[in-house]
Amino acid sequence: MLDAHLHAHHDPHADYPPHGTYFNCAIEPEEISVMGDLVQRLPGLINFGGLHPVQYSKKSEVLGTSESLFKTSLSLTDNLVKEIRNKTICGIGEIGLDRRPAFAKTLPEQMVVFEKQLIIAQDYHLPVAIHCVRSIGHCIKVLEKIKPKTPLLLHGWTGHQETAKSLLRFPVFFGLGLGSQWTREKFLGMVKRLPRDRILLETDWPYTNVSSQLPYSQVLELIYQIAAQHLEIDKEELVSIILSNGKVFTDCPAHRE
Ligand SMILES: [Zn+2]
Repeated sequence: MLDAHLHAHHDPHADYPPHGTYFNCAIEPEEISVMGDLVQRLPGLINFGGLHPVQYSKKSEVLGTSESLFKTSLSLTDNLVKEIRNKTICGIGEIGLDRRPAFAKTLPEQMVVFEKQLIIAQDYHLPVAIHCVRSIGHCIKVLEKIKPKTPLLLHGWTGHQETAKSLLRFPVFFGLGLGSQWTREKFLGMVKRLPRDRILLETDWPYTNVSSQLPYSQVLELIYQIAAQHLEIDKEELVSIILSNGKVFTDCPAHRE
């Protein structure tokens, strides 16, 4: 099975099935080094690295706007590009915008940081994992400006159908699952309405919204099971649809070198 969005290194001892495909995201470049030893255990682990907008906002609170933007730009160019060249990461993410009240005031800077990372992804032909909360309009503006050619995963997608349609002109995929922002009803509604060749399934582990204390492997299984049931197809068929949708992320030129 493919899990299109998780943070495996935040819970390195979970029961990750050894043959799964995992899009694993660091939330700041400094975190990339701790993702290392999981790669040995899980050959299907695909590491993404970037600076999450919430992490950026926190930094900027400590450092102040202009200093944080300057330091962030330096560390993104230095650390991120170094990790790309070392092939420690094969994707950029999760990056994006967050306009919840606690972070809204840094939105203009978040847009600069997001744009910068999207450009790095384009320069190195890497896929991107996007975190976008209450800011899809701003996100679209950045996408229109950069015109990304590499696949983009809009992780934890909960937007309107019309917005989803307008996003299809970009190489976007919608990440659906039972992450912390989700209810089961919302998840199933999205699974049915979005084009089947543009969806991916994700746990956002360990930030899942499944209430009981289920281990990772059962949460992943549950997401596939209820989605397949809702689409009235076999779970195996759904697994192969998602694997084939995920191919553009795993078969990027950077992976084949
Ligand atoms: Zn996440």
